[in-house]
Amino acid sequence: MSVKEYFLPQSLTEATGLLAEHGPSLLVMAGGTIAMPLINEGISMPERVMGLRRAGLNYTQRSNGAVAIGATTTLTQIVSLEAVPLLQTAADNAGSWSIRNMGTIGGNIFAPPPAGDVAVALLALDAQVRLVKQGGERLMPLADFYTGFMTNALEPDELLAEIRVPAAVGKTAYLKYGRKHAVTPAIVTVAAHLVLDGSKVKEARLALNGVGPHPLRARKAERVLAGSALTTASIAAAAQAASEECNPFTDAIATEWYRRKMVGVYVKRALAQIAGLEA
Ligand SMILES: Cc1cc2nc3c(=O)[nH]c(=O)nc-3n(C[C@H](O)[C@H](O)[C@H](O)COP(=O)(O)OP(=O)(O)OC[C@H]3O[C@@H](n4cnc5c(N)ncnc54)[C@H](O)[C@@H]3O)c2cc1C
Repeated sequence: MSVKEYFLPQSLTEATGLLAEHGPSLLVMAGGTIAMPLINEGISMPERVMGLRRAGLNYTQRSNGAVAIGATTTLTQIVSLEAVPLLQTAADNAGSWSIRNMGTIGGNIFAPPPAGDVAVALLALDAQVRLVKQGGERLMPLADFYTGFMTNALEPDELLAEIRVPAAVGKTAYLKYGRKHAVTPAIVTVAAHLVLDGSKVKEARLALNGVGPHPLRARKAERVLAGSALTTASIAAAAQAASEECNPFTDAIATEWYRRKMVGVYVKRALAQIAGLEA
């Protein structure tokens, strides 16, 4: 079987209309960096494909410090998004120039682990996703969107249309560790956002990628930090909590044991960077 129909909707309304008409038999494609190789290899054999490239979802809009990002905004465009430095760093660490030129921020949210190097920064920034279907839409925290390995809260008739990033009021850090310095899959990626009052942590968001079924918040480590002074001791305790609560896997890149060890090391480094301490 091969692709019989290819749709290129010119608006979000047209795209959600096509989805309502064809349902799950219609494969949604944004940049295609994940979807196309699967079709080329015959692993995915959709009868119908809908490209989102012209659906009007490539934009960034600023309002009161918050940023709304259309789902098909490319990772290369995110590298230039000065309003959100954490996202710039994250996008700069995802794949190669060719992948970033094609790959989209929305697609990164659907990417199987260890991909998700931009989504993990969105988690640390407490981003929300706007899901749209014919005649309706809903907004939910990205943290609630993920439900398991390659599963999520998206209904078959919905599209991810937009990502909303609130104004970052705290200090941030982003560290990706892979086997190579560049163009490398993550062994672990850490994104952190801390709101400090002097040395005391008022609010902590810590997110991990490459060490679970999807990018995830390290909630236990966040609870260790919240309300504590950001010291060598509290950082070590948070790193320990993060390495215990993550759920790593073994693949061709690293073992589960090694990934868990590196969570401790890289959470410590990211937090020490924010605190201005030696890790
Ligand atoms: C060689 C290579 C290296 C890579 N390196 C990295 C890396 O270092 N870090 C990293 O994080 N990722 C990496 N990736 C993964 C991936 O390419 C990117 O994360 C990219 O952001 C995916 O976006 P896309 O638009 O190409 O997705 P697509 O391939 O178009 O779509 C992927 C999936 O998401 C769904 N989808 C996409 N957009 C929407 C939407 N708006 N609404 C509903 N469903 C949607 C599609 O149906 C499809 O199932 C790499 C990929 C390759 C091939």
